[in-house]
Amino acid sequence: MILLVPIDFPGDIDYLRDRLRKGFRTRVEVSLNGLDPKPFFNPDRRQYSSASIIERLERDAEGAASKVLAVTGLDLYIPILTFVFGEARLNGRCAVVSSYRLDNRSYGLPSNPSLLDKRLFKESVHELGHTLGLVHCNDQECVMKSSTYVEEIDFKGSWFCRRCGDCCAPALAGLK
Ligand SMILES: [Zn+2]
Ligand SMILES: [Zn+2]
Repeated sequence: MILLVPIDFPGDIDYLRDRLRKGFRTRVEVSLNGLDPKPFFNPDRRQYSSASIIERLERDAEGAASKVLAVTGLDLYIPILTFVFGEARLNGRCAVVSSYRLDNRSYGLPSNPSLLDKRLFKESVHELGHTLGLVHCNDQECVMKSSTYVEEIDFKGSWFCRRCGDCCAPALAGLK
């Protein structure tokens, strides 16, 4: 089971849940208790620490979920980068993804909800892929291709290439 944990997420998390259910063909549920974002806020950067969110998720270890994905609308960072779309523990249990830098409005462009949904799905699959043991992939079509800029997310596909799919199939089959 994959558990989605909302942290100040303004979008439609049920829609994301349904798409992930279809993609991963496993149970995906939304946690009734979201997390308070305050402890993750860095006042100097005016951003939220993705590493702190992951540590918190790991500490809580809520319920029977095999994988836990926090979904947020907040701007995430790690110390060496100006921002991140998300972060995950390789082969771990927990990951986080943010819609903030996926939203056209963050770039002064008109809102495009269906494009935002597509980007958020891709980045959710990408971060969950890391928790399933996948590293970055050079295949242009593969969702595990790393993206620095939001346009690069639009160029890649929504799912694993065959090689990555084969690679994570045992981990995927083991999801409880
Ligand atoms: Zn990645
Ligand atoms: Zn791949």
